[in-house]
Amino acid sequence: MTRMLIVGPPGSGKGTQAEVIARHFGIMAISTGEIFRTNVREATPLGAEARNYLDNGDLVPDRLTNAMVRDRLDRADVQSGFLLDGYPRTTAQIAELDSILAATGQQLTAVIQLTADDRELVARMLNRARDQGRSDDTEEVFRRRLRLYRNETQAVVSVYSQRGLVVPVDGSGDPSKVGDRAIAAAEAALAGKTV
Ligand code: AMP
Repeated sequence: MTRMLIVGPPGSGKGTQAEVIARHFGIMAISTGEIFRTNVREATPLGAEARNYLDNGDLVPDRLTNAMVRDRLDRADVQSGFLLDGYPRTTAQIAELDSILAATGQQLTAVIQLTADDRELVARMLNRARDQGRSDDTEEVFRRRLRLYRNETQAVVSVYSQRGLVVPVDGSGDPSKVGDRAIAAAEAALAGKTV
């Protein structure tokens, strides 16, 4: 069974690559950022609570985020595997995910880490701001999200590295080549495991 996570700084193409990898493995990609954005767009109670955090580039509080993920991972369409995109982002969220999965005797099988340098990330963000108009794609908010990633989410990568789960993938350059590299890396990681 394929239960993966993709991590990478903002602008690293995480969302795009998550879709590509999930399609390849025939599993659902679950993007917490996308679920939040949908809730904001549809003006749900969760969206109303999450909105300011998204707009400021801050993390949505664990109380809301963890409950949402718990609920999502309980659905039938992820019972044969999933790819989490954007969760866990803190070590506290790792503990929560461990507990959600342990309840059904599961654990993660691989963590794909997309890497790219800050200059390329900022350039991509400016393109995305032009094309998609995301409210958190201003340079100031973006730099804040980048800092949060370096301060909080690097620790997530360290924890999963210690568990021997992390597969680094060069996220720079042509997105279709990044996708090929990510799929090859995930295949190799999964082949080395009894899942
Ligand atoms: P993303 O699309 O992954 O860049 O996420 C966009 C925004 O959604 C983030 O800047 C946060 O405000 C919120 N968000 C997404 N995932 C999480 C998470 N695991 N914990 C807290 N906030 C999150």
